Amino acid sequence: MDWSADRIETFRKLWDDGMATRAIAAALGVTKNAVVGKAYRLGFERRRPSVRPGSAPRPVGAERRPATPAKSQHPILSLTPDTCHWPIGDPKLQGFRFCLGATERGRSYCATHAARSSRGSGRIGRNDDRPGAG
Ligand SMILES: [Zn+2]
Repeated sequence: MDWSADRIETFRKLWDDGMATRAIAAALGVTKNAVVGKAYRLGFERRRPSVRPGSAPRPVGAERRPATPAKSQHPILSLTPDTCHWPIGDPKLQGFRFCLGATERGRSYCATHAARSSRGSGRIGRNDDRPGAG
């Protein structure tokens, strides 16, 4: 391995930059051991450990906003076995939601919607719109 002055200069720069030993080795085309050994022989200062849990200095100006859960939670996620599943609005539209009223045990709908539901199903065709009926 030939450590030309040029190479050593690059090495020192990368080392001072705090580049990982492995990365420096890759950049110079040598092994990590060669880098470590060379640094020792050149008397390079041992770098501080890059990241220490708890003691890492906070970057100034890099303000981080706390990650808040998205507001647009799907309405179906608020359903529980105890809430009314009656859909209100158009599922394809923004304002769609579920009734979420209190239900009786084992029921899918609140009293109001249970009544609507049972009235709407099973009695189709009983409308008195046929002429002459009755
Ligand atoms: Zn309801």
